[in-house]
Amino acid sequence: MPIYEYLCRKCGKIFEKIQKINEGGDHLTCPSCGGKKPEKVLSGFSSSKGSDSSSSCGPTGGSSRFT
Ligand SMILES: [Zn+2]
Repeated sequence: MPIYEYLCRKCGKIFEKIQKINEGGDHLTCPSCGGKKPEKVLSGFSSSKGSDSSSSCGPTGGSSRFT
Protein backbone atom coordinates (compact mmCIF):
# COMPACT_ATOMS: atom_id res chain seq x y z
CA MET A 1 0.00 0.00 0.00
CA PRO A 2 1.27 3.47 -0.79
CA ILE A 3 2.34 5.91 1.86
CA TYR A 4 0.85 9.37 1.65
CA GLU A 5 2.16 12.47 3.30
CA TYR A 6 -0.16 14.99 4.87
CA LEU A 7 0.45 18.51 5.96
CA CYS A 8 -1.45 19.79 8.97
CA ARG A 9 -2.99 23.15 8.21
CA LYS A 10 -3.06 23.99 11.87
CA CYS A 11 0.51 23.39 13.08
CA GLY A 12 2.30 22.75 9.80
CA LYS A 13 3.47 19.27 10.72
CA ILE A 14 3.97 16.75 7.94
CA PHE A 15 3.09 13.17 8.79
CA GLU A 16 2.80 9.95 6.86
CA LYS A 17 -0.16 7.63 6.53
CA ILE A 18 -0.40 4.29 4.84
CA GLN A 19 -3.66 4.26 2.92
CA LYS A 20 -5.54 2.57 0.18
CA ILE A 21 -5.14 4.28 -3.14
CA ASN A 22 -8.70 5.61 -3.26
CA GLU A 23 -8.97 6.49 0.39
CA GLY A 24 -9.46 10.13 1.22
CA GLY A 25 -7.73 11.99 3.98
CA ASP A 26 -10.57 14.09 5.30
CA HIS A 27 -11.08 11.84 8.29
CA LEU A 28 -7.44 12.01 9.32
CA THR A 29 -6.23 14.04 12.21
CA CYS A 30 -2.82 15.47 12.93
CA PRO A 31 -0.91 13.29 15.42
CA SER A 32 0.71 16.38 16.84
CA CYS A 33 -2.14 18.82 17.46
CA GLY A 34 -5.24 16.87 16.44
CA GLY A 35 -6.07 19.24 13.60
CA LYS A 36 -8.56 17.90 11.11
CA LYS A 37 -8.55 17.64 7.33
CA PRO A 38 -4.82 17.69 6.66
CA GLU A 39 -3.65 18.65 3.21
CA LYS A 40 -2.27 15.87 1.05
CA VAL A 41 1.33 16.40 0.07
CA LEU A 42 2.59 14.87 -3.12
CA SER A 43 5.60 12.70 -2.52
CA GLY A 44 8.73 13.56 -4.40
CA PHE A 45 8.61 17.21 -3.47
CA SER A 46 12.33 17.07 -2.71
CA SER A 47 13.11 16.34 -6.36
CA SER A 48 11.68 19.69 -7.42
CA LYS A 49 14.89 21.27 -6.18
CA GLY A 50 16.93 19.80 -9.01
CA SER A 51 14.37 20.35 -11.74
CA ASP A 52 16.19 23.46 -12.88
CA SER A 53 19.52 21.76 -13.46
CA SER A 54 18.01 18.66 -15.01
CA SER A 55 16.47 20.65 -17.84
CA SER A 56 19.78 22.32 -18.71
CA CYS A 57 21.76 19.09 -18.81
CA GLY A 58 19.70 17.53 -21.58
CA PRO A 59 22.22 17.53 -24.42
CA THR A 60 25.36 16.48 -22.57
CA GLY A 61 27.47 16.03 -25.69
CA GLY A 62 27.12 12.27 -25.95
CA SER A 63 24.09 12.53 -28.16
CA SER A 64 25.51 15.40 -30.25
CA ARG A 65 27.51 12.95 -32.37
CA PHE A 66 24.41 11.51 -33.88
CA THR A 67 25.35 11.84 -37.53
ZN1 LIG B 1 -1.13 19.69 13.59
